[in-house]
Amino acid sequence: MSDLFAAIEAGGTKFNCALFDRQKNIVAEARIATTSPEETLGQCIAFFQQQREAGLAFSELGLATFGPVDLNPTSPTYGNLTTTPKPGWKNAPLMRTLAEALNCNVAIDTDVNAAARAEYLWGASMNTNVSIYVTVGTGVGAGVLINGKPLQGILHPEMGHILIGDIQEIQGVCPYHGSCVEGLASGAAMKAIWGVPAQELSDNHPAWAIQSKVLAKFCHNLLVSFSPERLILGGGVMAKPGLLESITQETESSLNHYLAMDSKLSEIIVPPTLGERSGILGALALAMSVA
Ligand code: ZN
Repeated sequence: MSDLFAAIEAGGTKFNCALFDRQKNIVAEARIATTSPEETLGQCIAFFQQQREAGLAFSELGLATFGPVDLNPTSPTYGNLTTTPKPGWKNAPLMRTLAEALNCNVAIDTDVNAAARAEYLWGASMNTNVSIYVTVGTGVGAGVLINGKPLQGILHPEMGHILIGDIQEIQGVCPYHGSCVEGLASGAAMKAIWGVPAQELSDNHPAWAIQSKVLAKFCHNLLVSFSPERLILGGGVMAKPGLLESITQETESSLNHYLAMDSKLSEIIVPPTLGERSGILGALALAMSVA
């Protein structure tokens, strides 16, 4: 066992690679563009091999990845991506490729489960029985932790595809379901619906009121389904000032005082304490879990 841990946050546009010490300090890092599996994984492997050659040894790697991904340890395709629409990445054997090339123990989970894990260990959901981490970025995903362990059944949950149903003002764009959360409120959906990226929409653009309404329905459904003590809303789209507050207000009125709770909703629906670092720290937490 070494004192360093390798971590990869694998996303649809980039792979963040980092080497951490035990105190969660980054010793070395690289951002690698997501192109083809051969090229991107090849560059990740080269980065970590260079660290080893420079004397920075590690024996564990945590891999927090976009999905869907096979997380069943008894499956012959454990650690492979599955039905991702991302060109070239369908069935890509992520975990096996990295484990073999780098000859180390690899722990894999979804990016949202990993971020949920980091927030549980070091952030907003410490000491909770049930917590949920949601990302609203290019896509929408959510990870549920029960006493620190991710909820996992046949597959990992795909809660970005919870159906919201028709919204008067807009038409959802998910190729599978139309008006699911991802089809209505992801960064990609906002761009498709409004013609410009979310960060270019002005503060008083009608898109934001609709965004609050859709995400409040999502929060309503998650709160009544899982009763989380923390529902963490992260991801690039959530960086919009005031959005979290307006979602919380809408959720309050949607729930209509039905849930008798000791906590205020504003203490349950919160931003990630670890900010943009929750994903890569989640990968670190995975690496530490196999040490
Ligand atoms: Zn969908």
